[in-house]
Amino acid sequence: MNHLKPNDFGPVIEADRAHVWHHMMQHKPLESADPRIIVEGRGLHVWDAAGRRYLDALSGGVWTVNVGYGRTSIADAVRDQLVTMNYFAQSAGSIPAALFAEALVEKMPGLSRVYFNNSGSEANEKVFKMVRQIAQRHHGGRKWKILYRERDYHGTTIGALASSGQAERAAMYGPYPDGFVMVPHCLEYRRQWEVENYGERAADAIEEVILREGPDTIGLLCLEPLTAGGGVIVPPEGYWQRVQEICRKYDILLHIDEVVCGLGRIGTWFGYQSFGIQPDFVTMAKGVASGYAAISCTVTTDAVFDLFKDDTDPMAHFRDISTFGGCTAGPAAALENMRIIEDEKLLDNCLTMGERLMERLEGLKSKHEVVGDVRGRGLFAGIELVADRTTKEPANEKLVQKVVSEANARGVIIGMTNRSIPGLNNTLCLAPALIAKSDDIDTIADAIDEALAATF
Ligand code: PLP
Repeated sequence: MNHLKPNDFGPVIEADRAHVWHHMMQHKPLESADPRIIVEGRGLHVWDAAGRRYLDALSGGVWTVNVGYGRTSIADAVRDQLVTMNYFAQSAGSIPAALFAEALVEKMPGLSRVYFNNSGSEANEKVFKMVRQIAQRHHGGRKWKILYRERDYHGTTIGALASSGQAERAAMYGPYPDGFVMVPHCLEYRRQWEVENYGERAADAIEEVILREGPDTIGLLCLEPLTAGGGVIVPPEGYWQRVQEICRKYDILLHIDEVVCGLGRIGTWFGYQSFGIQPDFVTMAKGVASGYAAISCTVTTDAVFDLFKDDTDPMAHFRDISTFGGCTAGPAAALENMRIIEDEKLLDNCLTMGERLMERLEGLKSKHEVVGDVRGRGLFAGIELVADRTTKEPANEKLVQKVVSEANARGVIIGMTNRSIPGLNNTLCLAPALIAKSDDIDTIADAIDEALAATF
């Protein structure tokens, strides 16, 4: 535990209560309860200011700390880099940026160029801007529309929210820019078509939207490899292959948002690799440096990069900058983060522990009528809770929240789909660090088992 005693945090708690505007939080309850302040982390565990220890089954709340807490080798790499050269705008290069870009694209055959930014939202905005510029310069202004999928999420800025398939996230922040068009989600548990090959049918629904809008108006299809915060949705068999065919048929660039799945979350370096597709753009953020520094990347192909090369036109290059895309702490941390994943064989561990996690969660179905669906891949899992298994009526949101609190009370941090899909904030989410061992998986599953029993 931390060298400070719990009582030492009184002034911190007061300062927080008086001045910090927490993310995604109602603040009224904090007037009568202490805000949670996390003061230390080691491996999979964190300690709060009251001295309580938790197994964090969310990797930092939002699936970020893939290699776990307390990695001194990442801190050392960042420190060494900062005292040598902390910052220069990315119009010039830096040693860690060059070395990380090279190491990264080695894991991504077919992709070759890395644009550095700071957040997932920003990485996605860059793709949208690139596509708009390509439309202007190469398609006579056509192919400017961007398709996104119901229940997917791509970030918090206005452009990224324009591509939000999560209605509650986007509500009240409009009006949004034109040219963003939604395609249906592909969650088979909540079927929209009565067919045998659900995956192909769900992909065909994308083609229907393309034909309705006009193929020559559409430049990009932006999808999460596995929908994360929108309910942990693994696309069904046949989906991805068909999606790829559709993109090729209509000359639409395919953008996979790996902000959550990138760097090992579902047992491959990138989620798209677990589905056998070849994207034109990949964005990533959370796991890139496991939260030890802020960094995100927009990665693309030579073919896309070459569209921005034309010395005869002063407007040809990508006229964009991210000031802190020039921070060297990010790529220095990312290089070491990648080494850890490789040397500790965390992708293999993720797959093995992921199987155990799914087995344990499937086991909850026979014990708890409220468990409607269990889904996931690698160390990313969702449990959809329903009031009635036949009608699939979603469980009451307050009760889902209670399950989260009951698990917390048992020392395990879990999450739920939160203020995303109207009426469907009923899926518990789990994403422990890729270092999880069998005992950790059992602790998580046992806590959920008890939390469900205490709630329903
Ligand atoms: N894309 C996905 C799939 C996400 O889950 C998130 C955040 O949760 C983002 C993009 C936005 O990332 P950031 O919060 O770093 O802007």
